[in-house]
Amino acid sequence: MKLSEFSFFKPINKYYRYVFPKAKPHVTFHKRVWLASISFFVANCCNLKCDYCCHFNQFRKGIIQLSELKIWFNDWSTVIDPQSVILVGGEPLINPEIAEIAAAVRYFWRRTKIRILTNGRLIPKINTEKLRQLKRIKVVFDISPHGVNEELKNNIEKILNNYGIKFKWNLSDQSWQELYHIENGQPIPLQCNPTEAYKICNRKDCIAINDNKLFKCSYLANINAAYNEGILPDNWKKAAQTKTLTPNATATEIVNFLRNGAIPECAICPDTK
Ligand code: SF4
Ligand code: SF4
Repeated sequence: MKLSEFSFFKPINKYYRYVFPKAKPHVTFHKRVWLASISFFVANCCNLKCDYCCHFNQFRKGIIQLSELKIWFNDWSTVIDPQSVILVGGEPLINPEIAEIAAAVRYFWRRTKIRILTNGRLIPKINTEKLRQLKRIKVVFDISPHGVNEELKNNIEKILNNYGIKFKWNLSDQSWQELYHIENGQPIPLQCNPTEAYKICNRKDCIAINDNKLFKCSYLANINAAYNEGILPDNWKKAAQTKTLTPNATATEIVNFLRNGAIPECAICPDTK
């Protein structure tokens, strides 16, 4: 029997579940929205070109400027209280200001965990000064290996260990799914049952902010950005124009928006594993 199952601990567990109901978004005492994590895209492009990339990075270009991100952090820091801020791409290490971006996150959310979601290949190219800065800010690297070889893996681990930077290998690529079809070189959305798709969705807790708007999930944020860049054809229009919230939304509006279950746009996601 686990210690937590003893009757003495049951009221504590009940209280904990009340305060953090299954780690779902909720309004805090300070009238902000507690989130397990929030993702910000800091680069639209990637050094790899994986098939069915949910960021459409095979087709996209560019990075997000630090000055723009600072405006978004400033606006949302009074509204949300994330346990983790995740800097993603594309490949976030393509952004030359990645350390300054992480420092800006630390400025606006002092206690949050900062994670950089990377394929790891550019870690050996980060200069000493930036590595020291990332260590000072207490950044954690979440590395998806995407077929990284043993030599590179050892090199990455050696560098991060030398600088005392925490990291973990994240085997997300093992749950790879074909998220759309490619026809004549263009991505075409799936047409599935939205309720079933949402039920098996492993991205529904990947809440994202892009273009200073809050999206229900990072996939919809990427579709919105790629559609506005003219990369996705018109059959993505409905998903691209999904409802979003601005930093002016109330905490209750945000929680209701994030906890409303399946939406018609979920039809673009696979409904079987
Ligand atoms: S490494 Fe990740 S972001 Fe880059 S192309 Fe592959 S799936 Fe997309
Ligand atoms: S659109 Fe719906 S099913 Fe698809 S990733 Fe987002 S939350 Fe999940």
